[in-house]
Amino acid sequence: MRRYFDWAATALPWEPYGLYDGRPNGRLFFGNPSSPHAEGRKAKEALEEARSRCALVLGVQPETLYFTSGATESNTLVLHSFLKRKEKGKLLYSAVEHPSIRENCRALEHLNLPIASIAVEKDGRVSLQTLEKALEKNPDARFAAIMTVNNETGALMDMKALSALIRQKQKGPHIHLHSDLVQAAGKFPLDIKGWDLDSASISAHKLGGPGGIGLLYLPKPLDVLSAGKQERGIRAGTENILGALALARILEERASRDFTKNEALKAEERMGFLIKALKAMKRCRLIPEDRQERDRRFSPWILQARFAGIPGEPMLRALDNEGFAISTGSACASASQERPVLAAMGLGKTEQLEGIRISQGWTTTMDDIEALLKGIEKVLEFL
Ligand code: PMP
Repeated sequence: MRRYFDWAATALPWEPYGLYDGRPNGRLFFGNPSSPHAEGRKAKEALEEARSRCALVLGVQPETLYFTSGATESNTLVLHSFLKRKEKGKLLYSAVEHPSIRENCRALEHLNLPIASIAVEKDGRVSLQTLEKALEKNPDARFAAIMTVNNETGALMDMKALSALIRQKQKGPHIHLHSDLVQAAGKFPLDIKGWDLDSASISAHKLGGPGGIGLLYLPKPLDVLSAGKQERGIRAGTENILGALALARILEERASRDFTKNEALKAEERMGFLIKALKAMKRCRLIPEDRQERDRRFSPWILQARFAGIPGEPMLRALDNEGFAISTGSACASASQERPVLAAMGLGKTEQLEGIRISQGWTTTMDDIEALLKGIEKVLEFL
């Protein structure tokens, strides 16, 4: 029997809505929304319906949402738009951002756009102090990327307070605030408007939807590097209508059952149990070490831990052989030997490479957690 603990990489499909919108005629939307005929118009209608439904759940206006192929593309579209902007200044990004932000910023630096990172505290969170320092050091900042929940450690950022600080400190031109909501959407109550975000990204497959569909939230249109007229010129390419409908359906499902509260409470209980048991294991260290059983600084869906003296890779392979799917950090960076997120938290190279990520989802049970703990004890005996 396989037990899945890699929900932060991708969630198990949300039955029966994983593949399409659940309507018997869902598969009939075969027209191209750009075509002028009846089939095209019907496809366009379906796409707009999906947009309105997503907007209702997210508490924003439909015209602020753009369908993309996922969060990587949403993040990239925003960052690359700075290549076209006339105003000068630095692009800031938190030191724990997903590679689709961090690596894109580095690529832009090669194209002569100045960048700087926002440091995090030892717990992996951007604090008011670290943000203030970054803003003071970079008075020419014109962009800041701060993710809401970190995908490797579960560190939860106080977006409301961080956003307010940016608005209070911004002296020169407007600082565009972007937040990657991938690990937060459907898991925490979001207040996209209240956080005064200039852009945000969401990915369907982290919610139980299909891969290859996501959202970009843009309250004001951006002059992006896009070569087509689809999605009002923001995202070129034929639209993924079934994906858009599936995303709408999944957002609705999660909202209607109040998952962000009920499911988060259950997740918290399971995570508390797991943390308590791991803390009792001699070789186990949580990352950060002071993470508590119920810790409001972290998402209860994601935990980073390490086992002293055992590199993460063999640990994962051994657990995989025992039937457990676990990963180290971001799937998008798993080929590399670097753990920039853990480095930013002050961990040394050896400790970084020992880190493994355990992430749970809405179908994870206490039985799964108990089995995992037994599995870990077993592999620790021979590693
Ligand atoms: N941001 C975060 C925080 C993520 O965890 C991921 C998925 N690894 C992405 C962005 C990329 O999302 P997608 O797979 O939709 O491109």
